[in-house]
Amino acid sequence: MEAEFRPRMLLALQEKVSAVAESCATVVPRCQRCGRPMSHQDTRPVSWLARYGRLHAPVRRYRCLPCGWECRPLLQLLEVEPGRISGGLARLLAILAVVAPYPLAAQLAAALLGVTISPMGIWRVVQRLGKAAAQYHEALSHYHNDSRSQPDQIQEAPAAVVLGGDGCALGMQVRPRRRRERTGEAPFPRLPAVEEGQFREVKTGVLLLPGERVETAPGRRSLVRRFLVTCLGDADTIFRHLWAQLCELGWLGANTVVVIVGDGAEWIWNRAALFPRRCEILDFWHAVEHAWEFARLRFGEGSQQADGWVQQIAEDLRAGKVKEVITRLRRLRPRTPEQRANLGRLIRYYRENATRMRYDEYLRLGYGIGSGAVESAHKQVVHARMRQAGMRWSEAGARHLLALRLLLLNQNWAQWDQLRMVWVAA
Ligand SMILES: [Zn+2]
Repeated sequence: MEAEFRPRMLLALQEKVSAVAESCATVVPRCQRCGRPMSHQDTRPVSWLARYGRLHAPVRRYRCLPCGWECRPLLQLLEVEPGRISGGLARLLAILAVVAPYPLAAQLAAALLGVTISPMGIWRVVQRLGKAAAQYHEALSHYHNDSRSQPDQIQEAPAAVVLGGDGCALGMQVRPRRRRERTGEAPFPRLPAVEEGQFREVKTGVLLLPGERVETAPGRRSLVRRFLVTCLGDADTIFRHLWAQLCELGWLGANTVVVIVGDGAEWIWNRAALFPRRCEILDFWHAVEHAWEFARLRFGEGSQQADGWVQQIAEDLRAGKVKEVITRLRRLRPRTPEQRANLGRLIRYYRENATRMRYDEYLRLGYGIGSGAVESAHKQVVHARMRQAGMRWSEAGARHLLALRLLLLNQNWAQWDQLRMVWVAA
């Protein structure tokens, strides 16, 4: 049934385009440089691919004779490049590519939109829209970090915000040789160096309000809202993005406590000082996992004794008795050098993180004690699309897709609709 209406939709669209072209033809544009009316050079037929098929229009080219400035107002008006795909179709294709690998996205485009396009064609769309999305995130980050927008001015900021970060390695493409510069063409920009061999760290930051964690079923929590940032880069960059997103949301007031949940990775704690009013929390399950390591050595893998021993520690930690737990650990007499070393590490870990293990207090304040939401968010941003078997990424390719994924997962449709095809050298 729908297939029947496709040609009719195309026809109706074509009529609309023709009408726009006609009315556009009566307006003489003025030169962007000197302001003088431009002269008509020629009119050529142009076609492009839109959601319902190929559209055509006669496109008038104008030229300012003194300046040499040229323009084709109809193409600007319609957001169309000759022989390519329309902006509206490009944004639909990008949605498919954000959730599915490029070859599958091409198949989905055929099945859902009736549009024939190669995986490479979709890849190109993602590069161009993704670059626009990356530029948007960059500009936002720049704006808020440079102005250091004053948190005091924000009214009605939440009392507490939960902030977390997670990271993983992304497999990168390795180029056997540098790209050769062919004569007569503009040289390619130098490729950024890939650190640490074939992998790059990709980081995700998450922001949420503690009050918006709801228990949908006993023990099963879900979130009403959460906001994500991501980057292919270092810890400073992700914190710049987190800061910008907090400002953008108006979540950082003079009295807002920033609750920072971490798994013990130093890069998070090292940057926590950015927030004077903060509460650092070591993820409860990581704390317990460390106890498990020793219990397995001491009482044997899967033994009931190990189980009971860890249970008791978990219970005490949850009750905020980290000091008592450390005292008890110190009294243990390890039986082997391996156990001794492991116990030493466990005690040191608890001692160094003791101020981040007041779990009774965090629970009372409603901050939560786990980084599960952070980890699942990271998996959703990165693993679900970008860490499938055999996937290898170029630096730019990863950045562009991440930028688009972020808009989608943050449900930032307003920004998505504003994405324009940025020119990418490829
Ligand atoms: Zn001019």
